[in-house]
Amino acid sequence: MKWEENVRKVVPYVPGEQPNRPDMVKLNTNECPYPPAPGVEKVMREFDYSKLRLYPDTQATALAEALAEYYGVKKEQVFVGVGSDDVLAMSFLTFFNSDRPILFPDITYSFYDVWAELFKIPYKTIPLSEDFRIVPEDYKVENGGVIFPNPNAPTGILESLDHIEEIIKANQDVVVIVDEAYIDFGGESALPLLEKYENVLVVQTFSKSRAMAGSRIGFAIGNEKLISYLNDAKFSFNSYTMDSLTIQLGAAAVKDDEYFKEITGKVVKTREWTKEELKKLGFSFEDSKSNFIFATHKERKAEDIFNYLKSKDIFVRYFKKPRIDNYLRISIGTDKEMEILIRELTAYLKGAEND
Ligand SMILES: *Cc1c(COP(=O)(O)O)cnc(C)c1O
Repeated sequence: MKWEENVRKVVPYVPGEQPNRPDMVKLNTNECPYPPAPGVEKVMREFDYSKLRLYPDTQATALAEALAEYYGVKKEQVFVGVGSDDVLAMSFLTFFNSDRPILFPDITYSFYDVWAELFKIPYKTIPLSEDFRIVPEDYKVENGGVIFPNPNAPTGILESLDHIEEIIKANQDVVVIVDEAYIDFGGESALPLLEKYENVLVVQTFSKSRAMAGSRIGFAIGNEKLISYLNDAKFSFNSYTMDSLTIQLGAAAVKDDEYFKEITGKVVKTREWTKEELKKLGFSFEDSKSNFIFATHKERKAEDIFNYLKSKDIFVRYFKKPRIDNYLRISIGTDKEMEILIRELTAYLKGAEND
């Protein structure tokens, strides 16, 4: 058809499946196994539904203020979006506007190349080292912007702040985005670097460490000028992104720091236990500082293990992609869920010895 020639054609990002089986163990999309902070439930119960009649606050002020206070920045330095995917997409559109290619790792969050394609942004992927590390030296080439997650996904590897700063220092003529979706599980945020560099944008999400993937809350913190450009793009696209209930739910979550520390601490503890158990079973992995472990087995194929686990209603993530097609990304669930996983893996690997 002739009209099809004018259609913007994209190969979309493929999210992890959202199966819904009664006794499943869902370890495939890095959600938090615990509920959101109790204050979130209270806000939800007490929310005056008649308010839905009105448009929401376009600036999500209550949430932006709570975040500003929590992170010790001005509210003008905070941008809020419908999940960090929304924040990141808007940031690609706003900041990556050069003829030179933007740079990101070859193994990373698989939405980056999708946005680059969608917005027709030239890009170049920089291979991670053999052991999946980001090599700062490789980012010292001409480019139109830089983005990477820290810890990286799906490897879970955290790079030190010195490492991150080396990349930023070499790229002060472009915007550098640090995607900190997993920073709350033992990482050191790049936020302090904002005082030194005005071209850095730190993006975080409520989906993992704040147990609110279903509410879709993400945010960026950066220099006021950077944030104002981001707002200009957002207001040229869709002013009313976050709904009025979610704004309040998010603010309530930020205000309960004790609960936040409790659940992230629990996830970290369970992660360390799981690492030990996986090692005993013959898995190997780089040290994860996120809420998942990216593991490979010395004898069994990742895809076979993936399929076996799935047959037992245990869902993990498998990426059939170059360099990582023998790895499984296993989200950290509750202690009980991880025990079930280890039990099934043990049964599978023992059975494998016999056949
Ligand atoms: C999960 C994730 C996101 C997106 O999270 P939202 O649910 O959209 O907030 C962004 N970047 C990375 C690296 C992620 O893993």
